[in-house]
This record gives sequence, structure tokens and C-alpha cells, in this order.
Amino acid sequence: MQAVTFDGHGGTGVIDYRTVPEPDLGADDVLVDVRAGALNHLDVWTRRGMPGIDLSMPHVPGSDAAGVVSAVGASVTRFEPGDRVAVLAGVSCGQCEFCRHGEPALCASFRVLGEHVPGVHSERAAVPADNLIAVPEHVDWETAAAAPLVFQTAWRMLNTRADVSPGESVLVLGASGGVGHAAVQIAAHAGAEVFATASTEQKLQYAAELGADHVVNYTETNFADEIRARTGKRGVDVVVDHVGEATWDDSLRSLAKGGRLVTCGATTGGRPETNVQRVFWNQLDILGSTMATPGEADAALEHVWDGTFDVRIRDVLPMGETARAHELLENREGFGKVVVKPDNELD
Ligand SMILES: [Zn+2]
Repeated sequence: MQAVTFDGHGGTGVIDYRTVPEPDLGADDVLVDVRAGALNHLDVWTRRGMPGIDLSMPHVPGSDAAGVVSAVGASVTRFEPGDRVAVLAGVSCGQCEFCRHGEPALCASFRVLGEHVPGVHSERAAVPADNLIAVPEHVDWETAAAAPLVFQTAWRMLNTRADVSPGESVLVLGASGGVGHAAVQIAAHAGAEVFATASTEQKLQYAAELGADHVVNYTETNFADEIRARTGKRGVDVVVDHVGEATWDDSLRSLAKGGRLVTCGATTGGRPETNVQRVFWNQLDILGSTMATPGEADAALEHVWDGTFDVRIRDVLPMGETARAHELLENREGFGKVVVKPDNELD
């Protein structure tokens, strides 16, 4: 079968699309005929290589995909051939104290499909049954593939970690990215007043369509100054930051006293300076968040399947052009998710 692969870390030139052996189907696995996959910033980090993560090569990347079940392992009872499914990429042990407390995203040996172990950007993928969710008939493959990682991530950030209440104000940075465009919608759905930043008027217009009440072009003005001005120097209750170094200080400056910064990523780097006086004097909470529990993923995706949330697709490319998909993310071109399909799906 054909799969996206790389043999070593580096620039987009390491990405290949080539013939690899068919996947082995374990007793707890489901074989999925992949109809579409989606890219996340995680794919860029995995390609570049991350300290402490030692992948066996060649590596098949990809954390998001959706498709049709073609076979099931001997122990699988939840799915049968013909079922429509999407992948939930978090893998937990099910045994440790965190898993037993219903917090698999805190699992001591938590891993992500495509990041730590082989991923799903291939014509077929063997995925543990616990990592699949049913996709209703009316949902198209692009939506089913593009929603799971970012919508479950943003759902946990806002509803569980930051615990946003109706009437609170939420600032979402980078509203054009996958997590950002999900966070705008989830915050609006939670009843918050939503501020969103992006780099172009077009992206800001899309953010407004998805529920942002106020938009800020961060290329034209310092967003923290703008937030303080627009809130009468009060600041917002919650900031959603997945940008990291480039925005960290301004994110903290944008918060009201007692505010919460919730972070799930650091696309511009992970070692910003922090003004500690600002943290204790303003009594700020800094909240980390990674992925979600299966229950949180189910809740988020129910709202995708029923049309409450809109998954914006910036481009659909053949898997053979995955290098181009990485460029779209790295250059912050477009709005929403980049989808890739097995080349034979596009023939
Ligand atoms: Zn565990």
C-alpha cells in the first residue's frame, strides 16, 4: 500500500509517499480504509524531530484520519466491516492511576498516533478500537478527518481546563489555525464574549463568521494593548494560546486580574520569559492542556456531526503532496484545516 513516510528528520524534503508493507492487524485493532487525513502542527514538529522522541524509521506520520472499517481483530466487538470511523489519536495504558481516575490524557505513558508511534496517513491503517469514534452517514470525509484532534483539544482547553462560563470574555490567538478556529466556536457556544486575533482581514472575517464578537489584526497593532483598550484596561478572563514564545508576554498582559491562560502548544517556541510579578500580583492561572478524554472528544465531535461547529477546510491535497501541506501550516497560509487524501482517492 502507499503511505506518507520519512526516513529521517529535517525540512519538507524528507517527506515521501511510497509503497510500504500492509499493516499488521492485532487482536484489539481495526483495519481502516483511509478516505481522508488531516494535518496538525504536531506533524511539522514530528517531521523536524523533537528531543526525547526517538522514532523508528521509516516513520508514517499523521494523527487525524477517517475512513471505512475493512477488517477487525479477534477481540473487537464495537466495530464491524463497513462502519464509518474517525481516529482519536491519544493512546493511554488504561492501567495507571491517571487512567483509572478517568484522565487518560494524563496517562504516565501517554502517546499520540503519528507523533510517538506510527500514524495514519496511508491507504490503510491498523488502529486500536479504543482510538476510533463512529462517524454518521451524513458527515463528509474531509470534516470527519479534520475535526477530531483540534476540536477535542479546544473543547478540553475551554470547557474543562479554563471552565469558561457564560458572560466571560475569551481571547483566542491565531484564530485561523485548526485549534484557533475550533476555540472561537467552542468559546462562543459556551456563551463567552469572544475576541480573536489573526494576520489578515480575510482571516478576521472568517473568525467573525464563526462567532468572534471582536477581531484584532495582530500585524497592525499590539494585541495586548488593543485588548486592554477595548476592555477599559480590564483585560479578558481567559486567553487561549497555542503560539508560545511570540505571544506569551502579551497573552499574560491581556488577562484581567484572576484571569486564566490556557496553552496547548508553542508553535513559535517553548521558552518565553515570564514576568512573575504579573502572575502573582494579578493572581493569574496558567493552565496546560493536551488532547482530551474520550468523553470530551465525544462531546466535541457530537457538536461537529450535528452542525453546531463548522470545520473549515483550507485545502485538500493528495497525500503525495504532503510536503506542500506542511508548507501551508508553516507559512500560516489560509484558514482552517489542511486535508490530505490517498492519491488513489483523488483519481
Ligand atoms: Zn495510563
